[in-house]
Amino acid sequence: MKAIRVQHFGGPEVLQLKDVPDLTAGPEQVVVQVRAIGVNPVDTYIRAGVHAVKPQLPYTPGSDAAGVVESIGDHVTRVKRGDSVYIAGSVSGTYAQQCLCSESQVHRLPPHVTYEQGAALGVPYATAYRSLFQKGHGKAGETVLVHGATGGVGTAAVQLARAAGLTVIGTGGTEKGRSNISQQGAHHVLDHHATDYTDQILALTGGTGVNLILEMLANVNLAKDLTLLAKFGRVVVIGNRGKIEIDPRATMTRDLSVLGMTLFNASDDDRASIHAALVAGLENGTLRPVVGKEMPLADAARAHEAVLEPGALGKIVLIP
Ligand code: NAP
Repeated sequence: MKAIRVQHFGGPEVLQLKDVPDLTAGPEQVVVQVRAIGVNPVDTYIRAGVHAVKPQLPYTPGSDAAGVVESIGDHVTRVKRGDSVYIAGSVSGTYAQQCLCSESQVHRLPPHVTYEQGAALGVPYATAYRSLFQKGHGKAGETVLVHGATGGVGTAAVQLARAAGLTVIGTGGTEKGRSNISQQGAHHVLDHHATDYTDQILALTGGTGVNLILEMLANVNLAKDLTLLAKFGRVVVIGNRGKIEIDPRATMTRDLSVLGMTLFNASDDDRASIHAALVAGLENGTLRPVVGKEMPLADAARAHEAVLEPGALGKIVLIP
């Protein structure tokens, strides 16, 4: 089979398409014939060698995909050969025609959900769910600011929050992106490049601020965020690409919480709970992953450049 292999950490050019041996499932493992692969910003940080997670070289990148179960180990009971599944984490890496997973890393894909949409679930939807509910404790009736709502995580967060009864304010950097945020169910949509958008957020909340912020670019926004939160408000730091100066006093006066979040730290129980909720949301139609761009697997390097460019619009997916 063909797979993207990384021989050494570096720029996108280290992503090389190679012929590699077919995979075999161990007793508690599943081999999936991959139909679509999700590209996440974290894949680029790992490839560059700047992430805390450093795989042993050479390796096949990727944690997200969807496809058909090709073979299962003797002890596997949750899925069978021929089932459509999405993959959230893997043993062998997802940028390939086949992928080896532990049984707990594959989840049933309802028939009306495409493989391309399935590839958009693993990291983005799990991150959005964990940030909104397990870390941010968002609840019906509250107002959430999805600060960066046009990309993979933001789209997921808007759909999840809307379905759970929160009032959703989403921000985007382009006209097209903002129009998509509305379509996904946000009550209010703002431009995070507009000079007065923080005033608009305070106006939308009658001056009190929002209860929860899901932050995609903390190094730009965290100081502002602390001025946009209501009393007992929480900001979950999801994305960050640098440093920022904040005034800690702002957290004291209104009992604010700044919560860090890395999906890698989610426990097995938390993951099981996240994916049970995501499958239910797919089944009842409240979760509808948005695929913005499809590219052939051989173009993985181009996909790694595209995922870091501004003007996000849903998910970038590779087709093997
Ligand atoms: P993505 O699809 O590339 O989306 C990036 C998002 O950031 C877009 O909505 C983009 O909006 C927005 N953005 C750009 N400039 C912004 C600004 N000034 N203020 C607010 N938002 C801004 O990436 P993703 O997969 O959604 O991931 C988002 C971030 O979270 C990335 O940094 C990623 O590494 C991180 N992440 C962290 C975890 C974790 O476990 N902590 C998990 C997944 C992702 P426009 O393009 O419309 O301007």
